Amino acid sequence: MEPHLKDALEIRDFAVKNNGMFNDSIPLIASENIMSPLAMEMLLTDFGHRYAEGLPHKRYYQGNYFVDLMEEKVTDLGKKLFNCPQVDPRPVSGTNANMAVIFGLTKPAETITAPDLSGGGHISAARFGALGFRGLDIRNYPYDNETMTIDPDGAAKVIKDAKPKVALFGQSVFLFPAPLMELRDTFQEVGCKVWYDAAHVLGLIAGKKFQDPLREGADVVTGSTHKTLPGPQHGIVLGNTDDETWKKVQRGVFPGVLSNHHLNTMAALGVTLAETMDFGQEYASKIIENAKAMAEELHALGIRVLGEKRGFTQSHTIVADVSGFGRGKRVSERLESCNIILNKNLLPADNNKNSMDPSGIRIGTQEITRIGFGKSEARRVAQIIHRAISTDVSEEEIKREVKELKSDFTEIKYCYGHHKAYEYISLFK
Ligand SMILES: *Cc1c(COP(=O)(O)O)cnc(C)c1O
Repeated sequence: MEPHLKDALEIRDFAVKNNGMFNDSIPLIASENIMSPLAMEMLLTDFGHRYAEGLPHKRYYQGNYFVDLMEEKVTDLGKKLFNCPQVDPRPVSGTNANMAVIFGLTKPAETITAPDLSGGGHISAARFGALGFRGLDIRNYPYDNETMTIDPDGAAKVIKDAKPKVALFGQSVFLFPAPLMELRDTFQEVGCKVWYDAAHVLGLIAGKKFQDPLREGADVVTGSTHKTLPGPQHGIVLGNTDDETWKKVQRGVFPGVLSNHHLNTMAALGVTLAETMDFGQEYASKIIENAKAMAEELHALGIRVLGEKRGFTQSHTIVADVSGFGRGKRVSERLESCNIILNKNLLPADNNKNSMDPSGIRIGTQEITRIGFGKSEARRVAQIIHRAISTDVSEEEIKREVKELKSDFTEIKYCYGHHKAYEYISLFK
């Protein structure tokens, strides 16, 4: 045997076992999802070996005949699905899409307004993240601690005072829509561009079950394509803006923050966009229904769920304060050992301190919905979580309950064809 085949096979073994682990678990990370079989197939194609700098028919390399056809199709599907005149499907992740917009629409040291990290903002909107990389002067909006939602009056004051080049909205803990409509006059008065980061809620927007930022005044929308949109790990930019602004954004994508874009994931994204046209509305409403059902059950069991006064959530996300159960670190680790995978999360009450052991947890229902869970299963998940964190019942017993609950839900739903979720695909002989 070749000397390093063992190492290669060991890596494969980690992947096989990881598939098995997720097959046996309840996946509740709010930023994750699983792809359809047709989308997964695209990742294994020759597209993944090629270079295509630039835009279709204006390339720097030869051999792009089918790449151009594919990229044009993906772009058109994006325009149709999101009902907008401008789509750039090249960014390779949500952060990459964000950096393209920052590069295109701002100059170093200009001012931008953005959501606060402790109010659910993403690291790419922080000083130590992408906005900081451009050296931007960042002003945060005030927000409501109970719903983790931007306060429209407070935000209007901040924007009028800061006169930003760009006003950024969109969060990683995104329970309720951002107040774009309420701020429309303010944007106009200040003359800023409006950028909405839809990384988490892109699939809900596509399914017409969340706010539609492009109809509510956003110039550009960025997103990850693997959270509520159940596609590959990739990014996208959507636009409903003037040609000049859009040109700047596209130059931000290339040559700004990319040379080659990833063509196999772009093809997988295209498949996902087509599937979302056919299944996305039903999928998005089930995701939100399940989140509400799980939040209500957690609340009924005595766990403090944020956003109670507005019905806990209007998205895929639930945030719970577990400071009465040993805080976020102990709770998320205990659940992991019981095959329930979710993450600890900073709450406003943490005042941006102790991010390694915050008082909250974050839950997303998009992946369990993708494998067919309905409201009664969502409530059952809440009961299992509660029992695991409030008693010292053995891990084995909870794992058995998890396995039993999952045993009826083995197929990927809301897509073309049929495939067993978490099944390992092998080419190696
Ligand atoms: C997840 C997320 C991103 C970045 O996504 P990646 O695809 O992981 O780079 C950007 N913005 C927000 C609000 C997010 O939640």
